[in-house]
Amino acid sequence: MQAARINDGQLSIADVEVPTPEADHARVRITSAGVCHSDLHLARGEWHGVNVPSCGHEAIGIVEELGPGAERFTSVGDRVILGLGGTGGGYWCGACIHCLGGEPRLCPEGKGIMGTFAEQFCVYAKSLVTLPDSVGDHEAPLACGGLTAYGAVKKLFKHQINPGSTIGIIGAAGGLGHYAVQLAKNFGYNVVGVDLGEERLAFAKELGADQVMEPEEAAGLGRQGGADAVLIFAAAKPGFDLGIKMLRRGGLFVAVGIPPTDQGNIEISPWDFFRKGITMIYSVVGTVQDMRELVDLAADGKVRSHIGRTAPLSELPQVFDELASGAYVGRAIITDLAN
Ligand SMILES: [Zn+2]
Ligand SMILES: [Zn+2]
Repeated sequence: MQAARINDGQLSIADVEVPTPEADHARVRITSAGVCHSDLHLARGEWHGVNVPSCGHEAIGIVEELGPGAERFTSVGDRVILGLGGTGGGYWCGACIHCLGGEPRLCPEGKGIMGTFAEQFCVYAKSLVTLPDSVGDHEAPLACGGLTAYGAVKKLFKHQINPGSTIGIIGAAGGLGHYAVQLAKNFGYNVVGVDLGEERLAFAKELGADQVMEPEEAAGLGRQGGADAVLIFAAAKPGFDLGIKMLRRGGLFVAVGIPPTDQGNIEISPWDFFRKGITMIYSVVGTVQDMRELVDLAADGKVRSHIGRTAPLSELPQVFDELASGAYVGRAIITDLAN
């Protein structure tokens, strides 16, 4: 079968053996796989030198084979969404303080999911969520981009930033931000979408943002009271700096994107930290339950993936280059994994 492989930062498509599912795992025939910015960073070794042999962690497919015990969680023929945002989605123990506390991603025994750019993929069956027919194959990016945006928007409730509050979404037209705009509007927030260029701002407006603006104007917002919370989806450090500037005193800073390591650290002077009294948290991916809720929202038409590029597996290296240069808006998907 065909599958993407990475050697020394070089992505290529290789002919490999069909994998056999181990205990509690299922083999899924992939029908659509989303291209996430994390795949690009990982393939190019831009995150602290982390190297992976393959990539891809958001997909839709059909269950074709079950390992021992997997029948408790799924059945052959089920149409499922898989990936859970990659990190922590590959295994969790279910019994440690983190698993029982609702953060299985932090489980010391946790494993990630990487490798959905392949005709067949074996996955921990507990992580699978069955899809209704009304959610099409083009919604594969819900498995990471959508889930991550949903997890970040849910954090607002947890930190008492309630509907009606003003939320800055930095990177509003991007692969994750475009979900966050739709979700935050659905939950009743006043959304300020921040992005670069007319085309991207027009897209954020179309998605429902109440106001859209370039970073320069958004920084000025902080001087006029500021946003109650900011969600940082930009995978570049200036987006993080802007987030701090945009916030009101006592506001909530939710970091989501991870810029390449060589861009340096987030900087906030202890004086500003004291004076502004902001809360800073990181939000990444979500749980199986979050995924189920998001699938329900998609089935109700409340959130949809904007697909800016569709390609067969053989064009994946080219799609990575286009993602790096911002050549398309929204998300890319690979819909023919055999060619
Ligand atoms: Zn991802
Ligand atoms: Zn655990």
